[in-house]
Amino acid sequence: MYATNYHRASSVDEAVKLKSGADEGKYVSGGMTLIATMKQRLASPSDLVDLRHIPSLKGIRVDGRRVTIGAATTHAEVASSAAIRAVCPALSDLAGMIGDPHVRHMGTIGGSVANNDPAADYPAAMLALAATIVTDKRQIAADDFFTGLFETALEDGELITAITFEAPEKAAYAKFPNPASRYAMTGVFVTKGSGGVRVAVTGAGADGVFRDSGLEQALAGNWSPDAVANVSIDSSALLSDLHATADYRANLIKVMAKRAVAAA
Ligand SMILES: Cc1cc2nc3c(=O)[nH]c(=O)nc-3n(C[C@H](O)[C@H](O)[C@H](O)COP(=O)(O)OP(=O)(O)OC[C@H]3O[C@@H](n4cnc5c(N)ncnc54)[C@H](O)[C@@H]3O)c2cc1C
Repeated sequence: MYATNYHRASSVDEAVKLKSGADEGKYVSGGMTLIATMKQRLASPSDLVDLRHIPSLKGIRVDGRRVTIGAATTHAEVASSAAIRAVCPALSDLAGMIGDPHVRHMGTIGGSVANNDPAADYPAAMLALAATIVTDKRQIAADDFFTGLFETALEDGELITAITFEAPEKAAYAKFPNPASRYAMTGVFVTKGSGGVRVAVTGAGADGVFRDSGLEQALAGNWSPDAVANVSIDSSALLSDLHATADYRANLIKVMAKRAVAAA
């Protein structure tokens, strides 16, 4: 690991100023991705600006069915939140499936969404829940946020402050985890609410997380696991790697979609 300067910010304004004043600064939240990358010398930021001690980035608020989660909230806090479980148990379940206890107690929702790993779980939830990503500058719809592998609509220095969404009537997440890392080989998050049916797939797309319009149409017509059987998944845009071929992932999408609808 190369030497770096560590800064502990106590407000969003201070964090943004510290980063913009640094040569090649980076925000660090849980550090579960960034510190590992630095240890491998694949990243060498001149300065790390720690977001975890900024009070306004912490905490969970549920008003009616409106859920707002601070960016520095850990996966463990989301998994154990009774308030979230009461209106959207699918999100608590998803957070409880991330990695292992160490990762869940350090990793944060803001870090996961900003990182947009193609096998991460939260991006699928954000898309299926039609969530809004709130930053220090603006509000970005999840549909416009995830732009490719590890790519997002965030501009340089833009800081995610919170995630917000209206809990749908029905939702569930089904994941086929990689047995070693627990990342999704394929994960499918389904929702049904006033905005219709939304189905988002992670771990399988060659270009990262995506919504599947075929599954959405089939489930809008008939919200049942049986409706998934006749949908054909085009494997040409799916990922093939040492873990699974594109065809295998295409099959997993259907299996996970069926399980998610049954659970919802
Ligand atoms: C062994 C292991 C297993 C894992 N398994 C899973 C899994 O099953 N599913 C899953 O989804 N993930 C998994 N992860 C990833 C984990 O969820 C991380 O927590 C997540 O990817 C990054 O969150 P973080 O808070 O640690 O971010 P960091 O590592 O601190 O930061 C990641 C990136 O996001 C940026 N960033 C952080 N916060 C913000 C913010 N508020 N605004 C703007 N940019 C920001 C940083 O600058 C950095 O570029 C695993 C990780 C490990 C090490």
